Amino acid sequence: MERRTALKLLGLGAAGSLGMTLSDLKKFTDDLPSDELQPALFLGHGSPMNALANNPFTQSLNALGTSLKKPKAVLIVSAHWLTRGTFVSTAVKPETIYDFGGFPPALSQVVYPAPGAPEQAKLVKQTVVGTVVGEDPNMGLDHGAWSVIKHVWADASVPVFQMSIDWYKSPQWHYELAQELKALRKKGIMIITSGNITHNLGNVVWSDENAAPVDWASEFDSLVKKNLDSRNDPSIIAYENFGNSARIAVPSNDHYLPLLYTLGATDKNENLKYIYEGFQYGTISMRCVQIG
Ligand code: ZN
Repeated sequence: MERRTALKLLGLGAAGSLGMTLSDLKKFTDDLPSDELQPALFLGHGSPMNALANNPFTQSLNALGTSLKKPKAVLIVSAHWLTRGTFVSTAVKPETIYDFGGFPPALSQVVYPAPGAPEQAKLVKQTVVGTVVGEDPNMGLDHGAWSVIKHVWADASVPVFQMSIDWYKSPQWHYELAQELKALRKKGIMIITSGNITHNLGNVVWSDENAAPVDWASEFDSLVKKNLDSRNDPSIIAYENFGNSARIAVPSNDHYLPLLYTLGATDKNENLKYIYEGFQYGTISMRCVQIG
């Protein structure tokens, strides 16, 4: 619903009639529920070199950028910001962080100058009651964030902030925290999480980016897809029950947990689609999901 229409329906044609100041009115209208619910996405990111690539995966992100309605801000939960406790980044101008090693210098010359979104970050603190959310004014954008969103909004026009992953909590805890983030989607905030469904760097076939997926990777990715299709969230949370393929595909769950945030922040009856499906280096599932 257009804001003007909403105001009309509420009989608030003129701000003065209620004795409101313009800033009161702005706050009031900002707090109005929006009919345009922002989606929640899970994006695979794989090698940081995808930031410089032009391949079917990055092309799918380019297409996504043209299909999405621009949000007021994006909240990113990335596999590469692990903390004790939960934090939101509140920098006005978040720096591009080069949190990797051994890649060509060109990768460390990429700058993604998206503005921060301290107001929206503070809104997360107010919205979440299940845990204390701290502020980190120094955190920039990690490569799990900028290497993918630079393909979605190349002009860096959308304000971005991150929320960290408390490394000491269970998958179920993360899912429940994400349920509290759902309300933000009605306030123009898109939730993007960035990780990989399969991520075992010790087993990557580095010699061939386009290698066919190995058995454990395709088996685990298929099991997760099957349960995404039926929105069997409890099974996805209890992924360790998937057996041997889970042990190899998720040796530590830093890259898997972001998916649980996307699921937690959405309802089971919302439309779910795959923005991209495929593997890189025979082992890394680049599956990307959009819900809502
Ligand atoms: Zn990563």
